[in-house]
Amino acid sequence: MNKKDFYEVLGVDKNASEQEIKKAYRKLARKYHPDVNPGNKEAETKFKEAKEAYEVLSDPQKRQQYDQFGHADFDNFGGQGQGFGGQGFGGFEDIFDSFFGGGFGGRTTRRTGPTRGRDLRYDMNISFEEAAFGVEKNIEVEKMERCEKCKGTGAKSSDSVTKCSTCNGTGEIRKTQNTPLGQFVSASPCPQCEGEGTQIKDPCSKCHGQGKYNKRKTINVNIPAGVDHGSRLRVSGEGEPGNKGGPSGDLYVYLNVRPHPKFNRRDNEVISEETISYVQGALGVEIEVDTLDGKGKLKIPAGTQSGTIFKLKDKGIPYLRGNGRGDHHVKVKVTIPKKVDKEERELLEKIAELRGDDIDSSGKGILNRVKDAFK
Ligand SMILES: [Zn+2]
Ligand SMILES: [Zn+2]
Repeated sequence: MNKKDFYEVLGVDKNASEQEIKKAYRKLARKYHPDVNPGNKEAETKFKEAKEAYEVLSDPQKRQQYDQFGHADFDNFGGQGQGFGGQGFGGFEDIFDSFFGGGFGGRTTRRTGPTRGRDLRYDMNISFEEAAFGVEKNIEVEKMERCEKCKGTGAKSSDSVTKCSTCNGTGEIRKTQNTPLGQFVSASPCPQCEGEGTQIKDPCSKCHGQGKYNKRKTINVNIPAGVDHGSRLRVSGEGEPGNKGGPSGDLYVYLNVRPHPKFNRRDNEVISEETISYVQGALGVEIEVDTLDGKGKLKIPAGTQSGTIFKLKDKGIPYLRGNGRGDHHVKVKVTIPKKVDKEERELLEKIAELRGDDIDSSGKGILNRVKDAFK
């Protein structure tokens, strides 16, 4: 998560062409190359970052994957998994907002340049099978969209932008205070123009000068096979639009996998339980089992003990962005009847006699007990 966005590292737009990416990388590589900056750790880091970003973004396939999943692709939020509420939105607070307070004592003011839009979070419920095999879903989100009419400027036309009257175009407000220690000059960003120094005389009629407006949008999300509860998926550029032409934020889809009535999951393994009778356990049987791929057959050999686990190879969950699948483990539970009828009892008693097993005779039928009494 702490990793920098590759596009930001190279200083290019999300829609940058291969040529632009190459150009941006060359420029950075020339600037930060270790040969040019011997012993400069910061330059070395920057060089490495640029190289890494270029390696991904210059490869169309890697780039596409990065656009969809980002760096932090599918890092699991394990323990927090249960915390998912219903479906819905909550924005990530941009922590830098809170740092931009008033400057004190002079030169801390600077104009706010383009800022990146906020990231958005969407919690999505999917089924066990959808997590296993992947699914394509359309989600509807309500978010701010860049106004296409004014291209995000908020102005009716380029002539409608004038100098801010509050700060006279300087972008800051200076206050002089006389104190016993002397004169203090404080400067803070102009609240009227947010440090921009400009004012919109004729606002865009569509967005009322905001440069963006609230819009419902349907976004297609492609969930790959093998995701798990708590997986997070990045949809690049689908967050809120940036300010002053800054890049859009990203949309993070947090997955909440509903439990399956029959299957449990541990990583890529599926675990389920089947029951057979004691006779089936003793003599063996072929049973039908539920798998992710539908009904399957499982041969249970004679003499199977309760709790024995059988493995159905490659019937588990597909590996995320990899080849192959985990296995499905079927735990077989051998059941003892709670009640037996007269005929079954007689047969069992015969078996007990045959095996020389002592049995509790107090549960015998009345007739047998009477017989025993006369022996
Ligand atoms: Zn101003
Ligand atoms: Zn507009």
